[in-house]
Amino acid sequence: MSETPKSLNFIEQIIAEDLQNGYAEKDLRFRFPPEPNGYLHIGHASSICLNFGLGLRHNAPVNLRFDDTNPTKEEQEFVDAIKRDVIWLGYKWDTERYASDYFQQLFDWAVILIKDGKAYVDDQSSEEMAIQKGTPTEPGTESPNRNKSVAENLVLFESMKKGEFTEGSHVLRAKIDMTSSNMLMRDPIMYRILHKAHHRTSTDWCIYPMYDWTHGESDYIEQVSHSFCTLEFAMHRELYDWFLDMVYDSKKVRPKQREFARRNLSHTVVSKRKLAQLVEHTIVNGWDDPRMPTISGLRRRGYTPESIRNFADTIGIAKRDNLIDVSLLEFHVREHLNKVAPRVMGVLDPLKIVLTNYPEGQEEWLTSENSQEDETLGSREVPFSRELYIESADFREEANKKFFRLKLGREVRLKSGYIIKAESCTKDADGTIIEVQCTYDPKSKSGSGSEESLRKVKGTLHWVSIKHAVSAEIRLYDRLFTDESPDTRKDKGFMDFINPDSLEVITGYVEPSLKSAIPEDTFQFQRMGYFCVDKDSTENQLVFNRTVGLRDSWAKIQEKNS
Ligand code: ATP
Ligand code: MG
Repeated sequence: MSETPKSLNFIEQIIAEDLQNGYAEKDLRFRFPPEPNGYLHIGHASSICLNFGLGLRHNAPVNLRFDDTNPTKEEQEFVDAIKRDVIWLGYKWDTERYASDYFQQLFDWAVILIKDGKAYVDDQSSEEMAIQKGTPTEPGTESPNRNKSVAENLVLFESMKKGEFTEGSHVLRAKIDMTSSNMLMRDPIMYRILHKAHHRTSTDWCIYPMYDWTHGESDYIEQVSHSFCTLEFAMHRELYDWFLDMVYDSKKVRPKQREFARRNLSHTVVSKRKLAQLVEHTIVNGWDDPRMPTISGLRRRGYTPESIRNFADTIGIAKRDNLIDVSLLEFHVREHLNKVAPRVMGVLDPLKIVLTNYPEGQEEWLTSENSQEDETLGSREVPFSRELYIESADFREEANKKFFRLKLGREVRLKSGYIIKAESCTKDADGTIIEVQCTYDPKSKSGSGSEESLRKVKGTLHWVSIKHAVSAEIRLYDRLFTDESPDTRKDKGFMDFINPDSLEVITGYVEPSLKSAIPEDTFQFQRMGYFCVDKDSTENQLVFNRTVGLRDSWAKIQEKNS
């Protein structure tokens, strides 16, 4: 959705060529086809942006089609989550479709294939069939059931459908070519028996169509013009076309499958099956855990739809698999939040300071701008008093010249407040500094008088008034995996690379304006990063997720704020 014109990616090029060759633009139709066996992840975002992006570009309909052919793995919860995520990402589908709506049509077509001598029922064991399949270098051998009569096959297939056979005892196979160099063409399975209730068709069916049989025919039923899928289906294209040949009516649109590379993100896994394992083994707290690379997890973490779309747009579409560094995703969320997130103050690791010359019991409300980037975000009032928290790391008794924070005998500005000077500090028995005594300069209040008349000091610190501060649970996240590509190791499984320190929970103190914040509100805690309110937050206990730290180096922030 970037505004800058870009050269066409190879998928857009395929369509452009088709149009040049006379394909009618009105016949373009796309689909996004998730299997509802888990939540969508960042890899799916690429596919969503591709398909829905094409729809927008060509003003063509895009269906949301659930590829729900496996009742053992699929659930309504996943259907609901997928719909929610696509909407949240900002896309609208034309119609909501389910492969399961086509079960009858697929069955009828299968009967036609049997009648045409193109499919047969096989009752061998899966082991026997696997042996007959051959290897990539050796041709397969034909099943003894391959030449059964049409009548026999029709009876057997009907019995499969009626539930007269046990699971695994019979399958329907396409009769193609046991010597094909493409193993997928060696009489692939079209139907299997599963005595399982389906989340939509309940117990209407006990035979379920296989993916390859279902996908292309569903595209055809919906009159999808271009069916884009990931590279692992490149070998399936021949079969996709073979199945289409069986039912194709030349007056209709014939879907065309083309493949693009799967997107992988570093330091995580993008596979619903693997993400499901993290959920099942309670490595994370559900599919929307903010450490998950799911759309729901990213959303809860504080990512915006814009940031995810911009990320997908930047990485684009590729012909070859590669690993995208997670820092690119972080770059995009920072870039967007920098524009839209209000600035507030929160102290994560508090150190008490006392302004010895500020009258006890006095307090005042200081005006602080909500954004340095966007004036329209306005300002708010922040309470100031004699006792404040600053960040522990912002004070040292002694430090070199490059330390522009607080040190004994030196001055800093408190953001939107006064210039203070550290005079002395108090330590506990272990030598840890527990309090810093400072003086403030009453004439140095931010916003009082002209910019020029205000004294300038090098450092600016964020702070909160202890009396007014609100304590908040703050969840700090690190990468979920210690390895950049945890699921591609030969010697180890991805679960061996779980980062035991991916979540740290601390108590921080935030300014009182945040009391009214609600889940998914995002903020920049000045100098500390971007944070968003978690859904666990209650009226009595604020909970924040750290979305991402600030990219800017210390020096830059210092410049901006002073
Ligand atoms: P997973 O392994 O996570 O289950 P999948 O491909 O089986 O992935 P589907 O629900 O079948 O998941 O995917 C829906 C669409 O999203 C498909 O067209 C698929 O090719 C695409 N897709 C899935 N993962 C990625 C990815 N990492 N990058 C790009 N597209 C993807
Ligand atoms: Mg799949």
